[in-house]
Amino acid sequence: MAAFRAPRGTRDLLPDDRAVFDRLMRTASSLTTRYGYRGIETPLFEQSSVFERGIGEVTDVVEKELFRIAPRTEESESWALRPEPTAGIVRAYVQHGMQTWPQPVKLTTTGPMFRYDRPQAGRYRQFWQFDVEAIGDAGPGIDAEIIELGHRFYTEAGVRNVEVLVNSIGDPACRPAYVAELTAYYRGHAAVLPPTELDRLERNVLRLLDSKDPAMAELNAAAPRITDRLCEACAAHFESVKAHLAAVGVPFRVEPGLVRGLDYYTRTAFEFYVAGREGQQQALGGGGRYDGLVALLGGKPTPGIGFGLGLDRVALVLAEQAGADGAAATAEGPLAVVVSADPDDTVGRFRVATELRAAGLRVRADLGRRKLGRQLEAAGKDGAHFAVILGDELADGQVQVRDLQAASQRIVALADLARELARAESSHRHG
Ligand code: AMP
Repeated sequence: MAAFRAPRGTRDLLPDDRAVFDRLMRTASSLTTRYGYRGIETPLFEQSSVFERGIGEVTDVVEKELFRIAPRTEESESWALRPEPTAGIVRAYVQHGMQTWPQPVKLTTTGPMFRYDRPQAGRYRQFWQFDVEAIGDAGPGIDAEIIELGHRFYTEAGVRNVEVLVNSIGDPACRPAYVAELTAYYRGHAAVLPPTELDRLERNVLRLLDSKDPAMAELNAAAPRITDRLCEACAAHFESVKAHLAAVGVPFRVEPGLVRGLDYYTRTAFEFYVAGREGQQQALGGGGRYDGLVALLGGKPTPGIGFGLGLDRVALVLAEQAGADGAAATAEGPLAVVVSADPDDTVGRFRVATELRAAGLRVRADLGRRKLGRQLEAAGKDGAHFAVILGDELADGQVQVRDLQAASQRIVALADLARELARAESSHRHG
């Protein structure tokens, strides 16, 4: 039988990988608490129409990349795994009447997303995002605050050289005229458009601007720019976002070709990159304003803005920047391992270790029936600081405590054991 493998485009996060993700999630959690965000969990799947409406039917994410769940029977509903968290969170905002809460409602979540994409380095079919959404504030101050929060996440996570690209993609007042102008421009060059781009032209022309096809570079550089065609309100909003960013020293660059792949975005759009890093799948994260989304999902018109930062890519960049000899996360050994002179007394070891763990200590019991020497050897390999040895003294309510690092040993009453170990650990930590 062929060996089983994780599905194509997915990965197992082994304990060392998982430790990196844990650290990133702690950074995210500490930051969002400071900035006043509260956690939310929505289902990993939703009715497909939440994404079809909320993301747009003519986007790649919905057209090609949605993981649809086949109904088991003649269900009238159909579901899909979430390709991004915003649509589900906005669905929850509407469903639970969050319009009546103090605005903006600031929500955060971190978890797996699913896209049936062609797998390659940094692009997976299941990947993790750290996400924030602020719903009910038209900005522009909140736009800058969110961009600054994303930038600070990378700084605190230890990623170097992160660049912030910003743009405004207008709103329903000014975008239609721009889209018409852009369509006319590319139609005029239809003869030289690569087939995929030609196909996108009539359906989602903005996407041509961020085409990765080298054949498009020259054409895109000469294309009309949205930043020159914003209506007065959008232009003022964009100027104010930039002024807020400058006021707190977030380094940013205006990138007129930056358009988001998702249809519900209005005005502010931004992405985070590592400066000078080559390759196609390089955006570390991105987000933008989605003033049309709440109404599109059945709520009363309410503005919103958020970001999704890809944790898999952050982990990749951290590993690259740390270099080949870089700091792989090493697991911390237990404080103590409980062993005994009697190879058969696994119950005694289990009981003592259980009491120590109940007292809050990191303790492993050696549960194998092997000689004391072997048990001690294993405790050393585990990186344990102490071995608690159960022997003849047990009759008097005592055990031997061996300091495996200092190679010293002394007798401790069982009743004092937890306290003694805790004290030894804290003096070791602070000493
Ligand atoms: P998007 O909603 O496409 O802008 O995605 C936001 C962020 O999620 C991107 O900047 C990436 O860091 C990450 N991301 C998106 N798609 C994938 C994927 N297929 N694999 C890994 N990370 C992804």
